[in-house]
Amino acid sequence: MPLYEYECAVCSGIFEVILDLDGPSPSCPNCGGDECRKLIGAPAVHIKADQATRRIEKRVKDYLLDGKVKDAVRFADKASSMVKSDKVKQIADKLHQKSGK
Ligand SMILES: [Zn+2]
Repeated sequence: MPLYEYECAVCSGIFEVILDLDGPSPSCPNCGGDECRKLIGAPAVHIKADQATRRIEKRVKDYLLDGKVKDAVRFADKASSMVKSDKVKQIADKLHQKSGK
């Protein structure tokens, strides 16, 4: 059975499932949402970086909303070392300015 990658429209989580092509769409393991989009047919690497960036942005925003600037900075630093994306680096740089470091 092939392995499929899905993105949840509700929480932007990405997960992999093994399923039958004719079977029903899977639900998101994170939030249980069933509006999941199959991530097949586009250049996988590009999509992954793109989605990773979006997830990172969201996470950073969540931290900032909670007033956890330090956590946001730490997370963005870690993320920018893992995801080779200019956007993520910009986010990390901006956070450093914001936190005054
Ligand atoms: Zn979800």
